Amino acid sequence: MRRKRSAADQQIADLLVTAKKSLDLSVAFLSRLDGTTQHLEVVETSVPVLVQEGAKVRQDTSFCQAILDGKLPAVIPDVKRYPAAMALPSARIPRIRSYVSTPVVLSDGSLYGTFCAFGFTSDKQLGKRDEALVKVLAGAAAVIIEPEVREQQRRSEIEGRLDPVVAEGGPVVLLQPVVDLATGTRVGAEALSRFPAGWGRTPDVVFAEAHSVGMGHALELQALERAAEHLDRVGGYVAMNVSPATLLTPACGELLRRLPLHRVVLELTEHDAVEDYDRLSAALAPVRAAGLRLAIDDVGAGFSSLRHIVVTAPDVIKLDRSIVTGLAADRVLATLVGSLVSFAHGCGAHVVAEGVETAEDATALRALGVDHGQGWYFGRPGPPEALGLPAPRTRAAVPGVLLNR
Ligand code: C2E
Ligand code: CA
Ligand code: CA
Repeated sequence: MRRKRSAADQQIADLLVTAKKSLDLSVAFLSRLDGTTQHLEVVETSVPVLVQEGAKVRQDTSFCQAILDGKLPAVIPDVKRYPAAMALPSARIPRIRSYVSTPVVLSDGSLYGTFCAFGFTSDKQLGKRDEALVKVLAGAAAVIIEPEVREQQRRSEIEGRLDPVVAEGGPVVLLQPVVDLATGTRVGAEALSRFPAGWGRTPDVVFAEAHSVGMGHALELQALERAAEHLDRVGGYVAMNVSPATLLTPACGELLRRLPLHRVVLELTEHDAVEDYDRLSAALAPVRAAGLRLAIDDVGAGFSSLRHIVVTAPDVIKLDRSIVTGLAADRVLATLVGSLVSFAHGCGAHVVAEGVETAEDATALRALGVDHGQGWYFGRPGPPEALGLPAPRTRAAVPGVLLNR
């Protein structure tokens, strides 16, 4: 049975019909060559039994390879006149007697495969004009195929990078301190995933790529699992990032229910559109009732976060570093943060400022009523040991002890 053709395959099929009819041959096909195998990806044939779409043949004994190698001409009106052609398996089955083949080359010059037509009788009329037509059609085929090929390459590149990470149980997860601005005490830490440095991609980009190939939930769950392992190693809360989509998976609910939820803050990023707030609230209700605190991440970075806040009534609002860094010297930012603090406190939420890079900003944030701070000034993301002593629960640490770590 023939597999369902994609829209692109159908366009290719139209080109093949044109070739088959114009050249008055029995079969026309588009093949992909992978080095060892010729894949007959789209086939238009008047004799369906002999040549089937999806068939695979050996590349090194194919007509197309012999033509690519220059052992046979691109147009063969009569196969019997070429001993090299008669020696090939398809000269016997399916008894090819006339053949036209032209390479399908992508925009970067790489060979994709071939665009061909053949007959079961010799055809003395076949000549240069037919070759020219097939070349034009092959060029059109290349343009049609290219986006699919590139998408396939993108997917396999991403999967090739992610597979070993997933096989190892997920990314490395570091912790970055979150500090009480009034006392300097570390109150918690945010778990941040790290992928191989050679990838040159920030974790948010990697997670987005993973979602684009259907591996996002698995990867996010592994990161959560790894973040949760840190709960035994450090004091205070551990803030974990999760996308709304992964949060809605049953596996995420199961994972969360196993954790000491009063020590977990879940950070929902706002750059993901939430499609169904009712489902999100329903998924969150039992874990929040069991002690989990909810944070809305990156507030101030876009405009959808206010909706997140209104609908989810979070325990924590995290101010994006774009409205935090440099605020000591920027009255507009300071005013904005001041209003967000009133807004958050009015909703009963704590405020955490991200991207605190200097003492000046830390002081200004504290003066504006921001509760907690996170950023390079207090400590970069690092292994759990680097956080030092567990966050004290009762005694307030001397302000400044955690600084410049
Ligand atoms: P985010 O949740 O907003 O995390 C804060 C980002 O700011 C982190 O980038 C952190 O390294 C960086 N940062 C912290 N302090 C400073 C500072 O003082 N200055 C500056 N310039 N940057 C600072 P990172 O680690 O590259 O993570 C980027 C994003 O990737 C995160 O943004 C989060 O959205 C996502 N992400 C990271 N780990 C995970 C994870 O395990 N799961 C999910 N779903 N997302 C994750
Ligand atoms: Ca975060
Ligand atoms: Ca953030």
